[in-house]
Amino acid sequence: MDCIFCKIIKGDIPCYKIYEDDDVLAMLDIANDVEGHTLVLPKKHVTDLNDSDEETFDKVMNVTKRISDHYLDLGFEGVNVVINSKSAAGQEVKHLHAHIFPRRSGDEVKIQLVKPDKNFSLEEVAKKLRLN
Ligand code: 5GP
Ligand code: ZN
Repeated sequence: MDCIFCKIIKGDIPCYKIYEDDDVLAMLDIANDVEGHTLVLPKKHVTDLNDSDEETFDKVMNVTKRISDHYLDLGFEGVNVVINSKSAAGQEVKHLHAHIFPRRSGDEVKIQLVKPDKNFSLEEVAKKLRLN
């Protein structure tokens, strides 16, 4: 399978490893945009959050929390955790991964939602989207 993250997991492509266990790998994002920007991925190839089985997703999220806690222990003051699922949501690498952005007060990083100029009725949206 032509998946860049599977190649990294196999060791065919190098990475800056942050954490590894039998099921999960965490590495620095090659973008090198925010200090400590980390990707947490399952070793099993799963395309995205919505196609993932629960067990695999739970493992990724547990490690995401552990690494986030570790970053706070190291002196970061907060984290943003982001998962893009599917192309419409901006997912570029089709192997499930969570982004961790370690944060400090006044670090001048902005995780920004740019929204179209549209307004919604919360009542109608809630009616349409309610799950139970
Ligand atoms: P997505 O948009 O799919 O949520 O994010 C994919 C991320 O993977 C991007 O932030 C991109 O910088 C990162 N990425 C792409 N190729 C590589 C690579 O070969 N190594 C690492 N470490 N990160 C990568
Ligand atoms: Zn893969």
